[in-house]
Amino acid sequence: MRVPAGRVLQGARGLLLVAALAFATPVCAQVDKATGFDLGAYRRSAVRDRGAAISEGRAALAAKVFADAPRQRMFLLWYMGGAAIGKPDLEALQQVLRDLEALADSGTQGAHALAGFLRAQRQLDHGNKADALVTALTAANAVPEGDSDLRSIASSELCWDYLSAGQAERALEHCHRYTQLAQQTGNAMTLARAQYMEAGALSTAKRSKEAIVRWREALATVEAAGESALAGRVYSGLAVDLNASGDYAAALGAARRSVAAARGSKNTFSVCIAQAQEARALLGLGRATEALATVDSALAAMHDIDSPPTVLELRHIKRSALLATHAPASAIAALDKRLQADAEPASDPKRASLIDELEQRYVKREQAVHVRELEQENRRKELDIEAARQRAGTLEQQAQKQRMLKLAWGAAAGVLGIIVIAGLLVIRAQRRLASTLHEQAFHDGLTRLPNRRALLQRLRELETGEPRLGTDALLVIDIDHFKQVNDNHGHLAGDRVLAIVAHALLLHEPRAGTVGRLGGEEFVILAPEHALEAALSLAEQVRKEIADIRVQLHDGNVIAVTTSIGVALREGQARTASADWFAAADGALYRAKAQGRDRVVLAEP
Ligand code: GH3
Ligand code: MG
Ligand code: MG
Repeated sequence: MRVPAGRVLQGARGLLLVAALAFATPVCAQVDKATGFDLGAYRRSAVRDRGAAISEGRAALAAKVFADAPRQRMFLLWYMGGAAIGKPDLEALQQVLRDLEALADSGTQGAHALAGFLRAQRQLDHGNKADALVTALTAANAVPEGDSDLRSIASSELCWDYLSAGQAERALEHCHRYTQLAQQTGNAMTLARAQYMEAGALSTAKRSKEAIVRWREALATVEAAGESALAGRVYSGLAVDLNASGDYAAALGAARRSVAAARGSKNTFSVCIAQAQEARALLGLGRATEALATVDSALAAMHDIDSPPTVLELRHIKRSALLATHAPASAIAALDKRLQADAEPASDPKRASLIDELEQRYVKREQAVHVRELEQENRRKELDIEAARQRAGTLEQQAQKQRMLKLAWGAAAGVLGIIVIAGLLVIRAQRRLASTLHEQAFHDGLTRLPNRRALLQRLRELETGEPRLGTDALLVIDIDHFKQVNDNHGHLAGDRVLAIVAHALLLHEPRAGTVGRLGGEEFVILAPEHALEAALSLAEQVRKEIADIRVQLHDGNVIAVTTSIGVALREGQARTASADWFAAADGALYRAKAQGRDRVVLAEP
């Protein structure tokens, strides 16, 4: 008994494409919550084991999976329909078609179109190519324009159907659109399938160079996705185009890899398809005997497989091999007879024009959709740009605000700094002024010595402080006949003499105590802890020092002055009032003047 080979098509130069790769994959939620039925897993099993997939599909439909998800139910039917066509199981196919139309009647978009694609596949398998194209194009025209999953399926189906109808050039556009849509899905297997079909279309259109590029792309995609079984088929297609471009050595390599892959997956049919290319390559390399053996082995294996195009291809190769090995004419004549019997009927011109019209309608529709997509993309980009512009504007405003705020803060900080600095300066000036005022209040302007006020304060301190055991001395020093200095040399010279005398007195301050100017040409030394002897000795020393001073004037004159000094003592415990102490010292000074000046006189106790 012969088993069907599945959906296979023969292109020019013996390319055999196998459709049993997978159906175009939609992207939607895959698992039915109620039953746990997994749509993705079902799609894969529908390709691998059609019989099992049909049973599983029937059970799932009976269990009412995706009862509330008509779109998922629609794709379940689509995969099950594919398995039913591949098997073939007409009863299952009829159920699928009925259910799809029922879905369409209840408003599920695209269900009617999918039923149409399945019908077209069935018509192709019957060899009814023209009807298949009309059906497929009508279905493609019924695909909802906004449904990218279904548009992808439509381009995939049209690619396949045109290829099957031997119209590779027309197929190419659809195959290429399918590749583009597949690229957008990001699904490696879908892309591999699309590249595989596009390469097949290029190959069938005798565009071997482009086809080889696409085959190699498909190979890379497939290997990246880890699908070694599909890699074998891609190698087979690559071998076809390498053979067609005369690169027999490379073709033999590719064909043998394909044979090995097919043997590995125990797919006899794929082995035969690859062997056809192996035989062609061997023929090209002048190894006709090996080619004949390979092709005979394939033909023997095809005995149990129902694929007339493959058998036809193998017989063509066998004819070339027979010629090359100088086989008897009778053998060639017998083969020619079988080849003539396989020849195809001519096509119907009426159908051809209907196909053209439908094709034009579909292509126009696809173009319109494409234009709309581009316009939408454009609008989206414009909106993006507008949004970006607004964002940039907002950010700029924020940045401006921040800049202003920063500026304001900076200015405030500056002003604050200035205020603080000015405040500090004012405080410093105030302190200076205060200290200057203090200095002026308690010091004599000419000699910088403590003035009368300062001296009285110091005396009060001594008076009110802790009572002490020691004796303090008070020296009142008056320059003799100072009026004459002013009179003879001028007031400025008098000032100089006063300053120099003050300086001389000041030299005693560290040891003696406080030196001050009472006013005019009268000075004071307040000498704590100076008893009689120390006090008189100090007074005498001061008197001598001042008498030794010579003040050199600019006019060449020299001034020398003497002093009269009155000394008064005060016992620390006695607590004599300051005024009395002063009066005593002053009295002593008066007596020194009276006694002839230039002398020290001790106050009477
Ligand atoms: P005696 O020996 O009796 O002290 O005579 P005297 O001339 O020193 O005393 P008198 O009190 O008669 O004169 C003091 C003079 O000192 C009067 C005044 O012009 C002068 N005098 C007071 N203060 C200053 C001063 O700051 N600078 C100058 N150049 N002269 C001053
Ligand atoms: Mg005087
Ligand atoms: Mg005097």
